[in-house]
Amino acid sequence: MVPDRRIDGILEDYDKDELVIATLCSHSSLQIFHGAKKLGFRTMGITVTQDTKHYDAFPLARPDEFVQLSSYDEMLDKADFFVENNVIIIPHGSFVEYLGPKKFERMDVPSFGNRKVLAWESDRDKEREWLTSAGVSMPEIVNDAEHIDRPVLVKYHGAKGGRGFFIAKDHNDFKLGIEHNVPYTMQEYVLGTRYYLHFFYSPIVKEGYHAGDGTIEMLSIDRRDESNIDEMYKLGAQEELKKHQLYPSFVVTGNVPVVIRESLLPKAFEMAERIVNRSIELFGGMVGPFCLESIVTDKLEFKVFEISSRIVAGTNPFINGSPYSEMIHPGMSTGMRIAKEIQMARDMDALDLILS
Ligand code: ATP
Repeated sequence: MVPDRRIDGILEDYDKDELVIATLCSHSSLQIFHGAKKLGFRTMGITVTQDTKHYDAFPLARPDEFVQLSSYDEMLDKADFFVENNVIIIPHGSFVEYLGPKKFERMDVPSFGNRKVLAWESDRDKEREWLTSAGVSMPEIVNDAEHIDRPVLVKYHGAKGGRGFFIAKDHNDFKLGIEHNVPYTMQEYVLGTRYYLHFFYSPIVKEGYHAGDGTIEMLSIDRRDESNIDEMYKLGAQEELKKHQLYPSFVVTGNVPVVIRESLLPKAFEMAERIVNRSIELFGGMVGPFCLESIVTDKLEFKVFEISSRIVAGTNPFINGSPYSEMIHPGMSTGMRIAKEIQMARDMDALDLILS
């Protein structure tokens, strides 16, 4: 992990009027560049294998410059170049996944948010410890495959986007579906409606819904389109499908905006508040966007199956704002909210509170 004082030292030498917002050209980069440009920041798109031609189709989100690298590792080698250019890295899901959390922790360039969250988020056991010790309800872990007494979801470690996950209703199902020699965990399959709640924690904004030293905003909510599980019911029962080697998968193909019933909002905020407060106790607090990936049961209870502590692609339907952000910052996306936080912290001389 890059020590905080190293990043603080780098920031001291930055020309604060020439900050450049940079990210990898993928995931939510259009939204991040669009938001930063709207607030007058210069922007830099980093590419490795990504195409860039489609950015020409979106002039308001096209970064001011592209930097082509030959590999993800080169991001670390190029730290001096980024620092000379007053770059602030905005990590998104693909950025961290492709570079790797360990390498991202070592990257010697100021980055939005607290990188200490990575250790708690990328390890499923630590993530569970964080959330449950905050009093948040999660799907129960089921350990004994021979005595499965309710539908379970088998999740392979490191499976990207739910690839290979399968539902087993009993031991027989489990034996039919399991891939041997691949580490997995099993948890109860929660029946309910999936909501991906997009929050933003600011340690510097003091007015609003209080948590920690700052405030929490709810910027939007989405649900994911997941191929092919979402449509499989049209073909009939799973047992029948398995005979034809058709297995459900959860690979995300898109995102749909949603709102939740208003009476669920207090519970949603309470969970977010507890998670923020606990993050402060455990590792100094997460900063900026985070997403609670949840299922609401017919008892109107939230079960959180995952937290993402950075901008998620599910915020992309809201480049021009959401029903929730309309009541805080009209027309503001999560990408633009990140740029606004950087702008406010710069003006307050408090960049060290939001960058690491
Ligand atoms: P990503 O990192 O892309 O979010 P992942 O590989 O970590 O994905 P999860 O997000 O844990 O996987 O789960 C993938 C999908 O599986 C979820 O979007 C949801 O549809 C479903 N899911 C996960 N856990 C449960 C559960 N306990 N009960 C019911 N459905 C679940």
